Amino acid sequence: VVSLETLHFSKLNILLGAFTPEDLRLLKPHLREVTLQQGTLLHEQGERIEHVYFPHQGLVSLLAVMHHGHAVETATIGREGAIGWLTAFGPRRSHARAVVQVAGTASRIASPRFRAAVEKSATMRHVLAVYGERMLIQVQQTAACNALHDVEARLSRWLLEARDRLDSDTIELTHEFLSQMLGVRRTTVTVVAHMLQQAGLIRYRRGHINIVDRRGLEARACECYEAVRRQVAQLTKLAKPGWA
Ligand SMILES: [Zn+2]
Repeated sequence: VVSLETLHFSKLNILLGAFTPEDLRLLKPHLREVTLQQGTLLHEQGERIEHVYFPHQGLVSLLAVMHHGHAVETATIGREGAIGWLTAFGPRRSHARAVVQVAGTASRIASPRFRAAVEKSATMRHVLAVYGERMLIQVQQTAACNALHDVEARLSRWLLEARDRLDSDTIELTHEFLSQMLGVRRTTVTVVAHMLQQAGLIRYRRGHINIVDRRGLEARACECYEAVRRQVAQLTKLAKPGWA
């Protein structure tokens, strides 16, 4: 018998929704609901990963940080995924900076507790293997995107992906964050955002971006949007029918 409270966790995050009732029973006593505030650092690059986060809403960016401080986003994680999940296989230091870009809530579990549960469950190891493969494909796509596609296409892609993950046309985000994610100067983001606004695709004011014409934005986005969307759609299929 699975309690309603246990099922409640499975509905909040697609990965949690892919775990079996037995898996959730192992995790549930250790899951805590936490608030993710915009700008919160979940872990710094090189730091030991103490917790695993399963976002319910909001967006977390993984950023590669260079010695002189420049950073660029290598992955975005929302309610389809988890941050710090590799600690399921042993203690890990983070290869990326994980920072909250759009506020929300998450289920959080201490890494040793998560590892202990995963060691007992073949189904959890299977779900994490599938997730790891999808994540790798997304990161490869983003590496190519950062090198080959122009800022307008990348910004359009980013906004569409954020829209899909948040299920909202309004995204609470500053140009400062966008410039960090895209690895370009803030003035460049301002110029490109202005072009998209002039074209009637978005509206923005301080801290808010509103997608007005989604189809138009899709036409400006690079092929990476469609490629990553397919990967996220595959993850959604992992969730048990009627759960997520
Ligand atoms: Zn691209």
